[in-house]
Amino acid sequence: HATYTHPRQTRRIAVANQKGGVGKTTTTVNVAAALAQGGLNVLVIDMDPQGNASTALGVKHTSGVASVYDVIEGRSSIAEVMQTCPDFENLQVVPASIDLSGADIELADMPNRNNLMRNKLDEFLAQSETHYDYVMIDCPPSLGLLVINAMCAANEMLIPIQAEYYALEGLGQLINTISLVQKHYNPTLLVSTMLVTMFDKRTLLSHEVYEEVKSHFPMIVLNTVIPRTVKISEAPSFNQSVVTYDAKGMGAIAYCEAALEINERSEVVLNTLRARKSED
Ligand code: ADP
Ligand code: MG
Repeated sequence: HATYTHPRQTRRIAVANQKGGVGKTTTTVNVAAALAQGGLNVLVIDMDPQGNASTALGVKHTSGVASVYDVIEGRSSIAEVMQTCPDFENLQVVPASIDLSGADIELADMPNRNNLMRNKLDEFLAQSETHYDYVMIDCPPSLGLLVINAMCAANEMLIPIQAEYYALEGLGQLINTISLVQKHYNPTLLVSTMLVTMFDKRTLLSHEVYEEVKSHFPMIVLNTVIPRTVKISEAPSFNQSVVTYDAKGMGAIAYCEAALEINERSEVVLNTLRARKSED
């Protein structure tokens, strides 16, 4: 077993890509589970009304359950709505339910609407008796207010890229939104990580996509790629991460390696963030 070290500060990572089905939720859930299995304290915030991360981590999220919706609308604190993942006592989850689906419109008139999640998260981390090593935010496939809230609450972005045709299509739009958020709300937000998902090592296309991503973003794409495996796609229907569902399988191993690589880069990332803050 490789070892995970505690980053010297909480890393807050939003997992985003406005394309659906590229592996955002799968990556959030499995990287979080791998970090938790490695002994780190992790908080996952599900910001997608579909609640797929909540399902995969085995927490209740039917309509009416206290959720991220109550947090961003100011009725509840994170501590009041979070649930412990049944598989890891050091993995907490803020669930999302379908109640969140109206939030993009409901929030539109709220003052400070972009910073609702950031304020709640700051308050939670300052008051929590547990020191969190990682906060991972699973974003919906859009560039609306929920995603802006996630980008404002995070310090870093992790962008999953599916190894397929047009992998980089739409990335320009995402980068533009990140630039807007940096300009107006969160100047030090850092795109720290890209992860190629659903990689099929037998196809030339997969290798070409990896090389293309690597050539555009050499510093941030992880060396680890996530293979396409049936176990990864089955795990959520058992309310589990693949890290517990198929612990010895290729999918679990790949996500554990990706989590290790993310964690090994903590010093570099935190130093970059600090340098940006002092320029600011
Ligand atoms: P997103 O959150 O970006 O919409 P998901 O993580 O939900 O994407 O993944 C989309 C679908 O692909 C899901 O059904 C998921 O189980 C499946 N999937 C994701 N990653 C893999 C993988 N590496 N191998 C096989 N299936 C995968
Ligand atoms: Mg998703």
